[in-house]
Amino acid sequence: MSNSPYNPYETAQAQFDKVASQLGLDEATRELLRQPMREYHFLIPVQMDDGSYKVFKGYRIQHNDARGPAKGGIRFHPQETEDTIRALSMWMTWKCSVVDIPLGGGKGGVICDPRTLSEREQEQVCRGYIRQLAKNMGPNLDVPAPDVMTNAKHMLWMLDEFETIHGGRYPGFITGKPVGMGGSLGRTEATGYGVIYVLREALKELEIDITKTTASFQGFGNVAQHAVRLYSQLGGKVIAISCWDNTDKKAYTFRRKNGMDIDELTGITDKFGTINKDKALELGYEVLSGDAWIEQDVDILVPAALENQITAENVNRISSQVKVIAEAANGPTTNDADKVINEKGIFVIPDFLANAGGVTCSYFEQVQCNTNYYWEKDEVLEKLDTKMTSAFKAVYELSKTQNLTMRDAAYVIAINRVAQAVKNRGWV
Ligand code: NAD
Repeated sequence: MSNSPYNPYETAQAQFDKVASQLGLDEATRELLRQPMREYHFLIPVQMDDGSYKVFKGYRIQHNDARGPAKGGIRFHPQETEDTIRALSMWMTWKCSVVDIPLGGGKGGVICDPRTLSEREQEQVCRGYIRQLAKNMGPNLDVPAPDVMTNAKHMLWMLDEFETIHGGRYPGFITGKPVGMGGSLGRTEATGYGVIYVLREALKELEIDITKTTASFQGFGNVAQHAVRLYSQLGGKVIAISCWDNTDKKAYTFRRKNGMDIDELTGITDKFGTINKDKALELGYEVLSGDAWIEQDVDILVPAALENQITAENVNRISSQVKVIAEAANGPTTNDADKVINEKGIFVIPDFLANAGGVTCSYFEQVQCNTNYYWEKDEVLEKLDTKMTSAFKAVYELSKTQNLTMRDAAYVIAINRVAQAVKNRGWV
């Protein structure tokens, strides 16, 4: 997404190539894993409310399903690109693998702006998307979920279309459904909470007391809001948050140096994660430029918006006080910026480990759908914590024993498992 000169697919492939060489993967395995196995590109014609027709471009990309059905969200965004979806599908494979759940990697998207579409028009985009793919997705093939600017309501429309086409009930087809309609308690919180579970473990390893830390966030959508909530509950202090303002077509950073109040902030934030500037000013928040989030004197940075946000241009604006970067967004750091961050000695919790809580809970949702028995929220979050913590510990241990960065260690674990699966299946 975005008009950035950085291409996330090139980033994802370069990250893969580096570790594939370290692992000494053979040519065929490399070729198979460095690109998606299947791609669907299609058009979704929609009759708009005014009677006119509009044609939207849709994509579904399945990177690898050797370890289980492909799994990944569907984004609605006006600047979505094929290469972003390719990269995201690849990262999904590694994400499911690093937390060791039996799923592969996929991703989808529609080039559209739901902020400018009515409810009915959005429903038509959702149903049209599934009509194009009903035979290429399914509980045992490829399981979608919400992502940027899609939510439980969109998932239910998609499920309904799938079930109408196939003539049956298939709640395991899609995750992120509303609770009571096959959804799992805790799914909304899962990604943000997962980020903080691994951040908590990282701080323990670094012997940093979380109650003495401050943080700055980029983004205030689903992931960031829940991450901010749990981090605050654990005693951390958030002093800055940036988000996109679609009226002004630019981002702003909101700051309060003595700490931000999550309930107060969510009360003035719309469903797209935009904090109301005027109300924030009334409540005494400072309103700074959109990129000010990165240059705050804090201990922790949490990019939780989009890819390609920490780049060679702004990486040197990171304060020398920063000790940890928890990558809540997918692909927030470009490879050149990553090098500088490593040189600075900042501890990075890489994206596909940090934000794996969402897909882990999606997997729990499938398990609950398949058994038709739904767990209490505490049980879901406890299981999530266990999975995230053990994945973090495995990556941390490897990074220490092999002297690898956390990103490389996470890649080594994830790629090894997938390479083994394609070998065991006899694909290469
Ligand atoms: P969202 O749409 O709910 O929120 C996105 C937030 O980013 C909004 O607050 C928006 O204002 C802000 N934003 C957009 N552009 C910005 C900019 N240029 N500067 C500052 N802020 C900006 O999305 P989300 O679900 O919270 O996802 C955030 C990131 O986490 C994405 O990279 C997504 O792929 C990733 N992720 C999400 C999930 C999930 O379960 N939702 C799971 C894994 C990864």
